[in-house]
Amino acid sequence: MRRFSHAKRNFQVLNDSISRPSARVIPRAEHSISRSAISPNALRVLYRLREAGYEAFLVGGCVRDLLIGITPKDFDIATSALPEEVKRTFRNCRLIGRRFRLAHVFFGRDIIEVATFRAMSAPVDEIPLESAVPDLDDDELPEVDDDLDDDLDATDESTVLAEAGSHRTGIHGHTPLVERDRSRHAGAGAPDEDDEDRVTDEHGRILRDNAYGTIDDDVWRRDFTANALYYNIADFSIWDYAGGVEDIAARRLKLIGDPVTRYREDPVRMLRAARFEAKLGFTLDGETGTAIRDLKELLGSVPPARLFDETLKLFLTGHGAMSLVVLQRHGLLGELLPTVAAYLDKHPDGAVARLVRQGLANTDQRVAAGKPVTPTFLFALLLYGPIAEIIEKQPQEKWHDIGTIVDAVDRAARNAQGRIAIPKRFSLGVREMFAAQPRLEQPRGRRALRMLEQPRFRAGFDLLLLRAEIGLAAKDIAEWWTRVQEASQTDRDRMADALGGQPRQAGEGGGRRGPRGRRRRGRGRAPAAS
Ligand code: ATP
Ligand code: MG
Repeated sequence: MRRFSHAKRNFQVLNDSISRPSARVIPRAEHSISRSAISPNALRVLYRLREAGYEAFLVGGCVRDLLIGITPKDFDIATSALPEEVKRTFRNCRLIGRRFRLAHVFFGRDIIEVATFRAMSAPVDEIPLESAVPDLDDDELPEVDDDLDDDLDATDESTVLAEAGSHRTGIHGHTPLVERDRSRHAGAGAPDEDDEDRVTDEHGRILRDNAYGTIDDDVWRRDFTANALYYNIADFSIWDYAGGVEDIAARRLKLIGDPVTRYREDPVRMLRAARFEAKLGFTLDGETGTAIRDLKELLGSVPPARLFDETLKLFLTGHGAMSLVVLQRHGLLGELLPTVAAYLDKHPDGAVARLVRQGLANTDQRVAAGKPVTPTFLFALLLYGPIAEIIEKQPQEKWHDIGTIVDAVDRAARNAQGRIAIPKRFSLGVREMFAAQPRLEQPRGRRALRMLEQPRFRAGFDLLLLRAEIGLAAKDIAEWWTRVQEASQTDRDRMADALGGQPRQAGEGGGRRGPRGRRRRGRGRAPAAS
């Protein structure tokens, strides 16, 4: 094993005066990362950059995951090439990002992200949604159900599409306080204390930080030691400046530098700590864990769109059930979704808590099976408690009115918007899922079959299934819908006819249940278990 201090390019390097540890270089023979575990497209990009005379490394989560032996979600590349140089090196390349330019190299649907080495620790908050959650069912646009026209406001599809488009470009409406030159090279001059390239707010949060650098600079802006490892395509060695290899072996998550400063610079790192704790089963080291208690309120200063992206990464990337546990343990759920946290604190073992946990576990299974997952379903789960609470403040005879339900969903979603920006298409989807529940619970005659044709039937049905599993809806109704989907048209008609057009009398079937599962007396309308 040798020590290596990165050869400096022919420009002045930032913070020359600060003495920093040099990299520990771990040769190929002494680590477990094999090229066969690396995405062929990422390898293509690495080799091409190297052939063009640049330094090229795999960096971040993929190196960490490869060392642990799990399949990386994506392969990120760091290079000495400037964005424009990357663009010139690849035909299939696009530059993205307003504050910091990143290169996306396209191979069909696969995108390899290439970032130029950067100085200091600007938060990475312009990561496009697609790269955050690879199998997101992003096309789910809410359609207005004809039967509900009277109850729901019409969806403005152009608004919905515009929102979808803004995600595709990865721009979430963060407006930089001041627009300045964003492609300044470190060689143009080293920033000092009051360098105008770096702007922080009164809490120490970095608002903007615009300077490229070398790998020696790049490493110190990264969050955790485990995320600061570089795999060098030149000789397949790993460069470790911050002790990440040892921390990974000890299953320890440790911020680089002083935890309080690093959390103040970018409070989202607290959510990232929780995410990696949930995903990797690592323990938060010392102050990396304990500082969260005192600093978590700083999340209030983070743009809501960024918190929305982080929420999706926490809950829709395969470890959502564990993320909930970890977020609650650190008190972070209350910062992200205060009403959800308050509800679950009040009813920790209630039916809704079980529904949320079961729904997240089902979502994790879908991710593991490579099936798409939807933010709409996630928010239906998370907001179930707050929605139920609003509904139950109404007189009991109104609990099943679509107006009451829609109003409760809208209010619960509005309350959540205080912290995280849930795009309208998802909150409208949640509204439709809940509005469909009473009609799914009392299918009447052949008219019921029309629900099967509606584009959002599946989402509503999934919620019904989950409610039935937990005891919040009658099992025989959920089974009826399961069977009717599998039946031929003739059998469907027969099953629908068997329901009859009249509501059944109480006591004949399972009575309807209130939002939290209390059985209602006297108005039971459950279908016959035909
Ligand atoms: P995964 O992709 O498995 O979710 P990751 O570690 O790759 O995990 P990304 O969000 O893809 O996470 O970020 C890539 C890398 O960029 C990280 O490993 C880390 O080095 C750096 N990074 C990301 N966000 C921050 C941040 N807020 N502060 C400092 N460094 C960050
Ligand atoms: Mg990553």
